[in-house]
Amino acid sequence: MPELPEVESLTEFLRDRAVGHTVVGVDVVGFQALKTFDPPVSALGGLEITGVSRHGKFLDLDCDGLHLVIHLARAGWLRWKEDLSGAKPVRPGKGPLAVRVRLSPNELGLAPGFELTEAGTQKRLAVYVVKDPAEVPGVAALGPDPLAPEFTVAKLQEILGGNRTQIKGLLRDQKVIAGIGNAYSDEVLHAAKMSPFKIAASLTPEQVADLHEAIVTTLRDAVERAHGLAAKDLKAEKKSGLRVHNRAGQPCDVCGDTIREVSFADSSLQYCPTCQTGGKPLADRRMSKLLK
Ligand SMILES: [Zn+2]
Repeated sequence: MPELPEVESLTEFLRDRAVGHTVVGVDVVGFQALKTFDPPVSALGGLEITGVSRHGKFLDLDCDGLHLVIHLARAGWLRWKEDLSGAKPVRPGKGPLAVRVRLSPNELGLAPGFELTEAGTQKRLAVYVVKDPAEVPGVAALGPDPLAPEFTVAKLQEILGGNRTQIKGLLRDQKVIAGIGNAYSDEVLHAAKMSPFKIAASLTPEQVADLHEAIVTTLRDAVERAHGLAAKDLKAEKKSGLRVHNRAGQPCDVCGDTIREVSFADSSLQYCPTCQTGGKPLADRRMSKLLK
């Protein structure tokens, strides 16, 4: 699932390639992906892309005042196409293609564009056409961006203070902090040497400062690694840069202990017992419930 670093990189990628082009057409194949109907997608036709920005995990293409906002969700992806002029017309079907955005030709006569695809059967990819990105409920509800200057240690302290939830769940709650998902919350907690089950409000001021440092450093490093990569190479880069997420059974790069996995909410999390939980494996509560 693309999280802040990958969406940031896609934002830069599109800013370099799409800005200055005019939208020729937006073909919607996966109708469930389109979440708005007024203005219609056809209203984007003829408008110039004037800017691309990111809100949490949302991509926002400013088409001269009208915004195409994209949320790739769990299995969605963006594929840049250097030339769509010979592409077959899109037909609703079983394939992963959900939306195709066709752009005006460049000086070489190539008509670039991009496609939004979604693998699997759970269709969560979401596309919105709005006059203001804040009209998208998920954007309006976003917490502070961890890479923004406003995200200070004091701000994090304010977020955590009095919050009785487990730190793992809190970090990936978009309303609390924008842009962190299942993968980078595992990475942040490993970098902070903190148990994912720790209660947010129980952190000492020193631990809050460590966690802040881990959040900012982990995300900055990932953004830097992804910088300048083509959209198609981002997934592999994300995977190779992760130290604990999806690495259960492998040795921890820091201490050599075996990375473990435990169920959490609707999925699972990975962590290093030596680095994060005083060497003790966390109890898998879903398993113990089943055994009762
Ligand atoms: Zn370790």
